[in-house]
Amino acid sequence: MMRKILRDELDAVKAEGLFRSMKVVSSAVGSDIVIDGDRQINFCSNDYLGLAGDSRLALAAEDAAERNGFGSRASRLLCGNFEEHVFLEKEIARLKGAEAALVFSSGYMANVGVISALVGREDVVFSDKLNHASIVDGIILSRAEMKRYAHNDVRMLEKLLKKSGDFRRKLIVTDTVFSMDGDVAPLKEMVVLAKKYGAWLMVDEAHAFGVLGPSGAGLAEELGVSGDIDIQMGTLSKAVGSLGAYVSGSNELIEYLVNSARSFIFTTAMPMPIAAASREAIRIMQDEPERRLKVMQSAAHLRTGLGRLGFDTLHSVTPIIPVVMGDARRALKYSSELSRRGILISAIRPPTVPKGTARLRVTVTASHTDDDISRCLKAFREVKALNL
Ligand SMILES: *Cc1c(COP(=O)(O)O)cnc(C)c1O
Repeated sequence: MMRKILRDELDAVKAEGLFRSMKVVSSAVGSDIVIDGDRQINFCSNDYLGLAGDSRLALAAEDAAERNGFGSRASRLLCGNFEEHVFLEKEIARLKGAEAALVFSSGYMANVGVISALVGREDVVFSDKLNHASIVDGIILSRAEMKRYAHNDVRMLEKLLKKSGDFRRKLIVTDTVFSMDGDVAPLKEMVVLAKKYGAWLMVDEAHAFGVLGPSGAGLAEELGVSGDIDIQMGTLSKAVGSLGAYVSGSNELIEYLVNSARSFIFTTAMPMPIAAASREAIRIMQDEPERRLKVMQSAAHLRTGLGRLGFDTLHSVTPIIPVVMGDARRALKYSSELSRRGILISAIRPPTVPKGTARLRVTVTASHTDDDISRCLKAFREVKALNL
């Protein structure tokens, strides 16, 4: 019986403290969220610049919908490629300092489509052990050989590269900001290795786009290596406050993807209101750099406070601050005690993070006030005293 088999598996997951279920949000304004009926301060959103709820995005979306409707009606290659998509891609390419950009309907689809288009059976992909699941899935789908190196370990990466002379294409792929650790990839060293061993380099700027770099273009911009990276990907769903993703690079890369990325070709184009809202957010992102400053300052303040309380925040240097708990059940207990104090922070458990490293993942946004940060620290201090 299917029902019985699934029930047994779910029971086993529950016994390990790894069961997942969804809570329902009835309202979200600024840093305030009402979830399952409880009002909390939200410390688990990826809306780093506080743009998801900005009325200017809603206005841009409304305007686009009034002109051409909500739905895009077809895939980009048929008749779904509206001016709105083209404007958005031009703007992203300009900001990224790239020849061209291509928009996908989500970050997951971008990674799966790009990697499986660029490499195949005769090829090898070098992937950081903590890379996002969508990168891993892209590699699996590509059927290329996957060689995983320890997190940010460029020496191990070089060893693997040295042993891989026989493959047709070599692709190194990394998150720039790691989504569960909040630390950053050693891009400068990786650029050197990619050149030395004739490998292509792809970066996923999902948590860096809008947050890092002088104009918010990401870590590659911050480190001045944008021109040395073959493939840059980022999402419109995090700091941009919308939905979708981009890939930027050479004209040839983009043309190649239009002709071969299956998650681009065989799917309906992003609705215009979403494209228009994304473009408006990218405009705001550049006109209001104080948002980047604010989120980085608040994050530094919170991280320092957590450190003083004796919590391990790993190597976080971004608005993503992990607070390592170890055991999954302990992380859950902590999360629920914080929630009783009005602080919403999710427990991240295996398989999202390696076994034994369950953690609270605290994310700071530009919507948080200084008072929000103080209240968060106060709640951590109180829960710590419970000795869970
Ligand atoms: C969130 C995320 C994605 C997926 O992006 P979506 O737009 O949410 O599908 C890809 N890569 C990384 C590193 C992410 O954090």
